[in-house]
Amino acid sequence: MQHLLDQLNQKAAQLSLVERMRIIANTAERVVFTTSFGIEDQTITHAIYAATVHNIALLTLDTGRLFPETYDVWAATEKKYGVKITAFNPKGEAVETYIAQNSINEFYNSVEARQACCTIRKVEPLARALTGADIWVTGLRSDQSHARTTAQFAEFDSNRKLKKMNPLFDWSREKVAAYITENSVPVNSMHAKGFVSIGCAPCTRAINPGEPERAGRWWWETETAKECGLHVNAEGKLVQNVKTTLAHEEVFG
Ligand code: SF4
Repeated sequence: MQHLLDQLNQKAAQLSLVERMRIIANTAERVVFTTSFGIEDQTITHAIYAATVHNIALLTLDTGRLFPETYDVWAATEKKYGVKITAFNPKGEAVETYIAQNSINEFYNSVEARQACCTIRKVEPLARALTGADIWVTGLRSDQSHARTTAQFAEFDSNRKLKKMNPLFDWSREKVAAYITENSVPVNSMHAKGFVSIGCAPCTRAINPGEPERAGRWWWETETAKECGLHVNAEGKLVQNVKTTLAHEEVFG
């Protein structure tokens, strides 16, 4: 396994984005790409279309707390590329219990409460979305934040026991923006209002000039806590710190 990942990482530097998508599609049968419709994910969606590969499933996590503009770009993307993007929603019972036991915006009150909400609305639906997948494709870039500096083209996600491929791992924000413009890719209109990294509406704000890209996500927390649990491994502090008033089986079934 590590030998294959090393080979893929050595090759990646010489490959265009479309060639990277073809290599990913040819490496396994069941490939899943989870999009949040940010400009990195929109770049990958366009590259999948340009590469004319057909075994990469496009999925999204609809947390129920997204911006209306995110649903607009979702619809525009389906229309432009003629694809159906499959939504994974949180389990209704888990959301209802969390809200009954806490306030509707409890996530502002502690890191634990925020991580519990992310577990219910994102991490558990992602686990279902990745069921049976050999490869998980993400839009991670290594210069997005301190937590992502070690991102490579091909990695092994030891928590989920699958290969994780990051075709934009060595791209800058500027390179992504240029690709979007050059290819007329639909984008979330919130980007033009200073929202750089866009997640759930109550947990995302616009950033000020000079602030890090992800400064607008969970802005009330310290930098080290700022991941939602989707991109941490089995040893990840964030996963281990998750506390919820719900039992594990109530969330994960
Ligand atoms: S980003 Fe905010 S609203 Fe969305 S799942 Fe996490 S805590 Fe909940």
